[in-house]
Amino acid sequence: MDIKNVTIAGGGVLGSQISWMTAFHGFNVSVYDKFEKGINGAKELHKKYAEHFKANRGASQQEIDDTFSRLFYTTNLAEAVKDADLINESVPENPEIKTAFYTELSKVAPAKTIFTTNSSTMLPSTFAEHTGRPEMFLALHFANPIWDANFGEVMMHPGTDKKYFQIILDFAKDIGMVPVPILKEQPGYVINSMLVPFLFSAQSLYFNGVSDHETIDKTWMLFSGSNAGPFGIIDMIGMQTTFNVDMMQGNALGDEQLLKNGRGLKEEFIDKGKMGANSGEGFYKYPNPSYLDPDFLK
Ligand code: NAD
Repeated sequence: MDIKNVTIAGGGVLGSQISWMTAFHGFNVSVYDKFEKGINGAKELHKKYAEHFKANRGASQQEIDDTFSRLFYTTNLAEAVKDADLINESVPENPEIKTAFYTELSKVAPAKTIFTTNSSTMLPSTFAEHTGRPEMFLALHFANPIWDANFGEVMMHPGTDKKYFQIILDFAKDIGMVPVPILKEQPGYVINSMLVPFLFSAQSLYFNGVSDHETIDKTWMLFSGSNAGPFGIIDMIGMQTTFNVDMMQGNALGDEQLLKNGRGLKEEFIDKGKMGANSGEGFYKYPNPSYLDPDFLK
C-alpha cells in the first residue's frame, strides 16, 4: 500500500515530534488537535525542531521549507483525515479520551485509512471495537525524542489483519525509525515494560524523601553511562503524561505509592505550570538543565 497522506492526532509532546518527523521524510501531514492551544503549541514546537534540525542534524533550509510546506494544522477531525492513508493517534493517555476519539474518528475517516495508536501503556485491543475497523487498527509507538531514540514499536491486537503489520513496519522505516516488531500484545511494548517501572521507582524515592532528584539522576547516570537520569527523562516525557500513567496504573492496581507519586507531580509541578522541558521547567530548568552541565557528575 502506498502511504502518502498521514494524520497525526494530538499536537502535544509526542504528536508534535511525530508530525515533524513524518513531514520531514516527505509525507503530507495534517496535525489534528481538539484545541487551538494544542495546534498553536505544535506550531511553536515545529519552529524549534526546525532550528534543531538545521543546527544539529545537518538539515538544509530547503529541507526545512519543504517540511513546513507539507504540514497542515486543523481542529476539525473530518478535515484532518479526509484523504488520510494512515493516522497515528497521540491524544492524552486516558482511556475515556481515547475511546471518545476513536468513536468520533470511526465516523469521519475514509475506508482506506489505517488507524495506529501511540499509546504508551494501553493495549490496542482496549480500543479496537471503537475504531469500527479493528482489522485495520494496531499500535505504532515512538520513544522521546523520536529523532534520537529512533525506533518504532509495531504491535497488533488479535483482530488486526496481519498485512498491516508489515505495512506499518515499512512506514516506520520510511520516517527514519528502526522498526521494532512486537510479536504479542503487551502493555508498554518492549521499552515501556522496562522504562515505566524504572520511572515509578525513581518517583517513589523522590516523593518518599529518600533522595533529591539530582542525586538520583546522578547515581543512575554514573552507573549506566546514560546522558539523562529518570527525572531528566520525566521532564522530556512531560508531567501530564507521567501523571496520567501514575494515576491510571495506581487506580488499576490499587497502588497507594503510585497514587502518591501522581498527586505529588500534580501539586509540585502541574498546578504550578511546570509541565516539563517543553514548558521551560520541570524537575530542571530549560533550555540548559543542570544535568547536562559538564560538572554535574562530579
Ligand atoms: P500531551 O499532553 O503532551 O499532548 C496531548 C495533546 O492532545 C494536547 O495537545 C491536547 O490538546 C490534545 N488533546 C486533548 N484531548 C484531545 C482530544 N480529545 N482529541 C485530540 N486531541 C486532544 O501528551 P503526549 O505526551 O504527547 O502523549 C500523547 C500520547 O502519546 C499518549 O498516549 C502517550 O502515552 C503517548 N506517548 C507519549 C510519550 C512522551 O514521551 N510524552 C512517548 C511515547 C508515547
